[in-house]
Amino acid sequence: MAVSRRNFLRGAAAGGAAAACAAAVTEPAAARENLQMPPKAVGLLYDSTLCVGCKACVAACRDANGLAPEFTTDEKIWDTAVDISGKTITVIKLYTDGTAKHKDQEKDGFAFMKRSCLHCVDPSCVSVCPVSAMTKDPETGIVSHEPADCIGCRYCVVACPFGVPQFEFDKAFPKLLKCEMCKHRQAEGKIPACAEVCPTGATLFGPMTALKAEADRRTSTAPGVPTDYMRKTVDSTDVHERPNAAYVKHTYGTTEVGGTQMLLLSGVPFEKMGYPALRERSYASEAETIQEGIYGGFVAPMALFAGLLFMARKNTKNHGEEE
Ligand code: SF4
Ligand code: SF4
Ligand code: SF4
Repeated sequence: MAVSRRNFLRGAAAGGAAAACAAAVTEPAAARENLQMPPKAVGLLYDSTLCVGCKACVAACRDANGLAPEFTTDEKIWDTAVDISGKTITVIKLYTDGTAKHKDQEKDGFAFMKRSCLHCVDPSCVSVCPVSAMTKDPETGIVSHEPADCIGCRYCVVACPFGVPQFEFDKAFPKLLKCEMCKHRQAEGKIPACAEVCPTGATLFGPMTALKAEADRRTSTAPGVPTDYMRKTVDSTDVHERPNAAYVKHTYGTTEVGGTQMLLLSGVPFEKMGYPALRERSYASEAETIQEGIYGGFVAPMALFAGLLFMARKNTKNHGEEE
């Protein structure tokens, strides 16, 4: 049976990780703490209860990043990307249950969920990259990829807990694709395209401190209370009023793997929406601690990240991700 390159990498990683993690048990090292959010970090707040699934954000993202539509049906009439890929940076996914009649309800309901890079505060992809092609901006916290430095090892693909980095598998010299929070637009004084076009304010851009406060305001307000919701940016005066939603009492990204710079709100449990329950300690901090203990500071092998991730996924039921 043929073994794909992807599966080979995963298999090698899982095998090596077992040895590396076992060794770490006998060679304890001083734990490195999670990295902290830069004070001027910016990000996105995606509120699933405001999303109407229009996918204007998906089209705007393509436009802003020079990407052609992705077709998954023979007709090739509509952009039908079903997940992020080597051609698509962000998608809006659909959750349904039973009769699928009630928006934002787990039972007999439906809901939308954005999928793209979460710009982790302590990103595995940056930690594992052997040539620093993946970087995190020390001021904004945006996680970027530099194609000129990338050697195509795909360590970042294996290490990312959310399966975000994607390669152009249909090209002779494939490049890696992921959201860079429209940093080219921000350099021109614009906001990310997905936030710019969202008609309901389901995707908001702004400083992380303000986005976190806004998420707290929504989750601490009782369902049904008339509430103002802004569009485009968290400090916008373009607001519309509607009854507050019945939110899950948690903002995804505030704790998971040390925090992320895309925060998520939802009426349906996150595990059902493709976002697994993850611990607070970042994989990068653990892998680098193990690395220090058994490799004396040399480059951390991909096996460490893959092994930690493999074990985390194995312990997470119904996480909704491809295995
Ligand atoms: S543009 Fe806004 S409402 Fe439309 S799919 Fe995207 S996030 Fe949802
Ligand atoms: S979501 Fe994945 S690709 Fe994005 S910053 Fe985190 S580890 Fe890196
Ligand atoms: S921030 Fe820019 S690149 Fe990222 S999903 Fe939004 S439009 Fe796409």
